[in-house]
This record gives sequence, C-alpha cells and structure tokens, in this order.
Amino acid sequence: MQSKSFIPPVRTLMGPGPSDVHPRILGAMARPTIGHLDPQFVAMMDDMKHLLQYAFQTSNQLTIPVSAPGSAGMETCFVNLVERGEKVVVCQNGVFGARMKENVERIGAEAVMVEDAWGAPVDPDKLETALKNHPDAKVVAFVHAETSTGVQSDAATLCKIARAHDCLSIVDTVTSLGGTPVQVDEWGIDAVYSGTQKCLSCTPGLSPVSFSERAVDKIKNRQSKVQSWFMDLNLVMGYWGEGAKRAYHHTAPINALYGLHEALVVLQEEGLENAWARHRRNHNVLRAGIEAMGLELIVQAEYRLPQLNAVSVPAGVDEAQVRKRLLQDYQLEIGAGLGALAGKIWRIGQMGYASNSKNILYCLGALDAVLSSMNAPINSGAAVKAALEQLNS
Ligand SMILES: *Cc1c(COP(=O)(O)O)cnc(C)c1O
Repeated sequence: MQSKSFIPPVRTLMGPGPSDVHPRILGAMARPTIGHLDPQFVAMMDDMKHLLQYAFQTSNQLTIPVSAPGSAGMETCFVNLVERGEKVVVCQNGVFGARMKENVERIGAEAVMVEDAWGAPVDPDKLETALKNHPDAKVVAFVHAETSTGVQSDAATLCKIARAHDCLSIVDTVTSLGGTPVQVDEWGIDAVYSGTQKCLSCTPGLSPVSFSERAVDKIKNRQSKVQSWFMDLNLVMGYWGEGAKRAYHHTAPINALYGLHEALVVLQEEGLENAWARHRRNHNVLRAGIEAMGLELIVQAEYRLPQLNAVSVPAGVDEAQVRKRLLQDYQLEIGAGLGALAGKIWRIGQMGYASNSKNILYCLGALDAVLSSMNAPINSGAAVKAALEQLNS
C-alpha cells in the first residue's frame, strides 16, 4: 500500500507539554541543513550557549543543550554527578521524583527518599532532617516545578540546605524555565536540566543543561567512567567546548537546534521578567474563569505554578470523555491527572507561546460548552465573563 504524507491537524496545545510551538520557531527549523562542524553552525552554537546562560541566569561555562528530550537531561545530570555506592537524597512530591530515584538506583547508588504529598511542595525541614540522618549523602535532587501536580517548590531554600550539608544539587526545571523565575547562580544550583517543549515553546527533543564549577570538578575527578558513553560530559565537551576546535561526538540535531536558538531569541526579545509576568497574569485570568465556573484549583495559592493549572473534575463527570470531546470538537488538548490524581484533575497548561488571552477564552468557552452538554454541575456562562473582567482589571 502506498502511504501518504502525514499532515497533522492544527490543535491548540494546553496540556502539560508539548505546548503550542511559536511559528517563528517552526520557520527556523525549516531552514537548510548545514554541517555540524560548519564554522557558521559552530558560531550559532556559541551564541546558543550565551542565550542559555541568560535563560538559566548563570555564568556557568558548561551550559549546553543535550541532544535528546528532558528525560535525557535528567539522566545526564545523574550519570555524570553520581557514582556507584554514593548516597543521593531524592525529594519526591509527584511523578518526576520517582524517575530520579530510578536513575539513582540504576547507577548502583542509594536513593534516600524525602516524600511529600502529591499537590504539596517539597518540605525543606524534611530535607534538613534527612541530611542530618545521612551525613554521607553526596547529592540532593528535586523537581522545581512538578508538572504532574502544578506545584512549585522553593528551590533557593532547598539548594541552600544542600550546600550547607556539602551536597551538590540536581534540579529539574523542565516546566519552570521561561515560565517562572529560575536563578541558577543566585540559588546556588549545581546541576540543572530543562526541556524545550514547555515554556520555551519549541518542539520536543532537546534538553538544556547547566553545571556549576563544583559540579564540573566532580565530573572531571570521578573514580569511575560515566556509565553512559553518549551522556558522558567529558566526551560531549569535545564538541560543545570552547574554542574553534570541535571534535565529532555525535551528529548534532542541526534543525532542532535552529529551533531552540530561535526560541531563545524570542525569549530574549520579550525579556525573562516580562515572560514571567505574562505567565502570572494569564494564570490569574484562567483562574478567575475556572473558579466562576464552580471548579477548583487543587494546589494552595502560594505554591501554584502559573503555567500548569491542576483543576478538579466535578463530581460524576467522566474526565476522559471531556478531553476527548475537547479534542474532537474544538481541536483543544488539555492533560489528564497522573498517578494519585488520575481521574480527579485536569491539567491545563499555559506554557510559553500558548499563554495568551485568546487561548484562555477559547479554553474556558470550550470547557463550558462540553461540560454543559454533559449536564455537569457548573455555572454555565460565568467563566468567560469572569475571565474578561480579570483581563480588563
Ligand atoms: C516533561 C517533564 C520531564 C520530561 O521531559 P521529556 O522531554 O518528556 O523527556 C521531566 N521533568 C518534568 C518536571 C517534566 O515536566
């Protein structure tokens, strides 16, 4: 059978990622492919490092995109900074902390878990206690913005505690980067990873990472080789390192990197502070609509992520059916709950380019229409009105 070209439908992406990709980024990715050692490409790579340093608010030299998605950025941090037999304190308050534990255990290291409820932030006191009980711990790892629950933890405080106990910190900022403040140097983060498809509005598949000098020291002075050849930063640096001399490590995803470069230029043009303020403002507009409809945000106000809203499903409503109707009838994607929150919440993302008033009004209107048609117990007609009032206030 002769297959045809795949033409995807045009959707509005308001889930936990990927989020809507900025048209300028899609345009950049369609530019001609050049060689990964072409001097012009190498110059673009150097510029990209500066743009990433801006996004992460760091002067770390080792600030590059890993050629694979956020999960690979996570793994890059763990396999380079943790050695077999070491102890790592992993704070878990959602899905992604469990993956950190997996990473630690697969290295042959020991994960000491600090657990908090899904929907709550990481408790700094619990971390402090764990470090007192395990003075031999070498690394502390936690998720800054838990996409599974819509909660932000206090990264500055957690990193300070880690440093006071002479531990390196590994911080997941996949969902926070570009949406809420991430201050790598000010907070003293030692290793950080992010993703392209959330608040950077780029396509999925790359993971920006950055490492402090303390972290680089540890990587250079390891007792054993990094277990992953592909992720061994000692080797990757031969290609991404300073200067004109670049050695082939792997063929860089050229066009994907054009996309990330454009995404970072777009972010620089808007300005980080303006991007954070826009996410906050638009979150308040969506919140006004959601609450007027009679639904609730499950996370306590002070810990809410503006770019990822965990919304309670009204009693008696089949949440999967609602998402199906939104996709079929309105080309709108929102996310389901995961793990302990499966069936109980929707996750409405307002990430990067997708965080705009048009999307909010569209989402509230479509959600109202679908829930009303299913006779769900909501205040039909109130959401868009309340959102407009907030928008104009
Ligand atoms: C999305 C996400 C990841 C994984 O990123 P992928 O690009 O899907 O591999 C990791 N951590 C958090 C907090 C995320 O939201």
